[in-house]
Amino acid sequence: MKRTKTVALLLCLCLVLSLFSCNGRDEKKITPKNRIFYDYFDTVGTFSDYTGGSQAEFDALADRVERELSEYHKLYDIYNTYDGITNLKDVNDKAGQGKIKVDKKIIDMLTYAKQMYSKTDGKINVAFGAVLKIWHSYRTEGVRVPTSAELSAAAEHVDIEKLVIDGENLTVELLDPEMSLDVGAIAKGYAVEEVAKGLISDGYTGYVLDVGGNLRVIGEKPSGRGWTVGIKNPLSPYSQTYVYTTEIKNSAMVTSGNYERFYTVSGVRYHHIINPDSLFPENYYLSVSVRSGSSALSDALSTALFNMPYDELVAFSKTLEDVLIIVVLPDGSVESFSN
Ligand code: ADP
Ligand code: MG
Repeated sequence: MKRTKTVALLLCLCLVLSLFSCNGRDEKKITPKNRIFYDYFDTVGTFSDYTGGSQAEFDALADRVERELSEYHKLYDIYNTYDGITNLKDVNDKAGQGKIKVDKKIIDMLTYAKQMYSKTDGKINVAFGAVLKIWHSYRTEGVRVPTSAELSAAAEHVDIEKLVIDGENLTVELLDPEMSLDVGAIAKGYAVEEVAKGLISDGYTGYVLDVGGNLRVIGEKPSGRGWTVGIKNPLSPYSQTYVYTTEIKNSAMVTSGNYERFYTVSGVRYHHIINPDSLFPENYYLSVSVRSGSSALSDALSTALFNMPYDELVAFSKTLEDVLIIVVLPDGSVESFSN
């Protein structure tokens, strides 16, 4: 856990520094106010204010952002329980034991996750917990690779149709006692989007919310410019070099990469995004980044696209609107697709 956090911190800081360094020559340089937090979604987050407003105003807004992120974090946590809260760990613990009443924030996120499952032909599946659990424990141990037989047996219990959501009565039910939810591919981006949407609807502009690389910019800078974000070079993720940069306003950029969480056995790298067809991590890309109007969409798509072979990704990209995809291929070359 500690190691993951350190890695996340480094990755996150690179991104923040890229934001800092990108004030255009024609605009007044603003020194942003920042709140850094360590307690949500097992990563490091930053909320930054580019408005030039008062410290007191920023502190109050950052408190609100933290309060909201904390609530989403607890609700979507699959590892810990919290007093007075029914969360996804409770849902998993009750698999096969009937309906469980949950907060609407869980209903809405899982409903969105099911939509993304359909949209991506199953490349992202929040009911994939049985298989992901195996990879998680082997990754933590760090010395062996699971067998195909072990993974195939677990894959008998990943049917998303057996996640039953009742949006009217606010209940969820896992029909298979051996299935479990893992929302690691989607929950962080979804939560960031919900928090950002709240700020936007209250009229805020000129802020950046970055939770472990799920970057959501809120509005624009006072100058009317956006923020330049850089896609890191996956072959040297700790250097300050970027393989692609783009200016974004009121939108999100999320990257899934093979360099974030992985372990190595006999010289082979096993990362944390598992292909639902092969049940193994595939190496079609070093990273996939998605810019869109929503950090929920960008998070879901970046993981799903990572699981698509190149031709499938190219075909799929043509079905999307207002989405920019940037892939870094295994040889380090960069390609982008947009409609
Ligand atoms: P991160 O959040 O670590 O930046 P991703 O958004 O790509 O990266 O999500 C990776 C996480 O998603 C994994 O740690 C795991 O919990 C989960 N996951 C991995 N493969 C899949 C999959 N095929 N479908 C759904 N979730 C997955
Ligand atoms: Mg994702």
